[in-house]
Amino acid sequence: MTRASHSQSCWPRASEEDSGFQSAIRSGASASEQSNQIWASSPRLEYVHDHESSQSSATSTAEHPLVPEIRQALRRVDDPEIRRPITDLGMVDDIDVDAEGRARVRVLLTVSGCPMRDTLQRDVTAAVGAVAGVTAVDVELGVMSDDQRVALRELLKGGQRDPEIPFARPDSLTQVIAVASGKGGVGKSSVTVNLARALAAPGRKVGILDADIYGHSVPAMLGIADARPTAVEDMIMPVPAHDLKVMSIGMLKPRRDQVVAWRGPILDRALTQMLADVYWGDLDFLLIDLPPGTGDVAISLGQKLPNAEVLVVTTPQAAASEVAERAGTMASMMNQHVIGVVENMSHLMVSCPDCGKVHTYDVFGTGGGTLVAQALSTRLGYTVSLLAQIPLDPQLRASGDSGVPLVEADPQQPAASVLKSLADQLVKRSVSLLGKQLGLAPAGR
Ligand code: ADP
Repeated sequence: MTRASHSQSCWPRASEEDSGFQSAIRSGASASEQSNQIWASSPRLEYVHDHESSQSSATSTAEHPLVPEIRQALRRVDDPEIRRPITDLGMVDDIDVDAEGRARVRVLLTVSGCPMRDTLQRDVTAAVGAVAGVTAVDVELGVMSDDQRVALRELLKGGQRDPEIPFARPDSLTQVIAVASGKGGVGKSSVTVNLARALAAPGRKVGILDADIYGHSVPAMLGIADARPTAVEDMIMPVPAHDLKVMSIGMLKPRRDQVVAWRGPILDRALTQMLADVYWGDLDFLLIDLPPGTGDVAISLGQKLPNAEVLVVTTPQAAASEVAERAGTMASMMNQHVIGVVENMSHLMVSCPDCGKVHTYDVFGTGGGTLVAQALSTRLGYTVSLLAQIPLDPQLRASGDSGVPLVEADPQQPAASVLKSLADQLVKRSVSLLGKQLGLAPAGR
């Protein structure tokens, strides 16, 4: 998917006319009002295709034998945003095949003028065209009625009407990992983004919630800095990027250059809504990029997601390790388990033009990660391991700037392979945790 298409969407935008966050996600009612306004003028099916259909589904006679095969083929076409088959979402309105094998498929968008219509049209044409016996494909794009849209929303919410944080439910199988650091600039967001991308690579479903009110650099690192979430009824759609579902506090600002100055209850409400009102779907992992330090967000998330676990990022510097340790201790005070420590910017490897060997420089000193891991183990009473040491790598910086995670852009880079093996460790761990949750092993950590 191109960068341009990330910032566009089939869903009505959540914050188009907003002066700030409050109206972007302030309440389900407002999002719903907004949706109703957008759709008020389109209560019935409206065709946005160039030619009008002359044949209604009501007049169809016996089903052509290719229709079930076409429907089966359409099960492989996902809505670009929700990433579920369009057949499951009620978006396939009609399928018709004539005597010559020419197929006509009518697909319903949620709103007319949808910029993702080209993607859908292309994917549907390809899927139907691949069915043996189909000689031509004609895709008509229509628009859902209000009732159809409400039904879709109910489907996505699984009949759940009240805001509820799905990840806080005892039966949730999503592993929530909050990435914390003592101070800014240690690479917490870079680790979050690359780790998420590495976790998502083999088809796992991974979301990122960027809760860093100061930095919110995750969207830029994924090439979606200008993307804004959109809403269907009172539900907000995360922005898809690099096989991840992304929601950022920064996306709720009308403009990139605005400062997020929320504190206390407003901030708390923002976090609740980013967890409860966003359609995350079934995730294997949700990574949360916390703000640096031990402030409001960490406390608030600790209360909302007591089963979340925490990964602490530090640099090798002694000064950084002291504050990182505080962040880990704080997580534990909120009853969150600390999974381990990641030391970033551990060393710089330089190929020597004279001797041809690779020299290693400890630019930020040594030992910070080990110190934090030891200190947390002593304080918390269980083993907190140093899970990874990521080298200083100009490519990691450059890939962040260009909006493509290094593990995707250049997986052979040393920093990328360390991040990949960090992801592997977390996956192994989560498999054994899942076993415990399912009662396959004794419970408890
Ligand atoms: P934080 O989220 O802790 O504030 P960032 O992830 O935004 O930190 O990183 C700060 C800067 O350092 C960014 O420009 C990022 O690209 C760069 N950076 C992070 N880790 C590394 C690394 N291992 N090597 C080189 N640059 C890095």
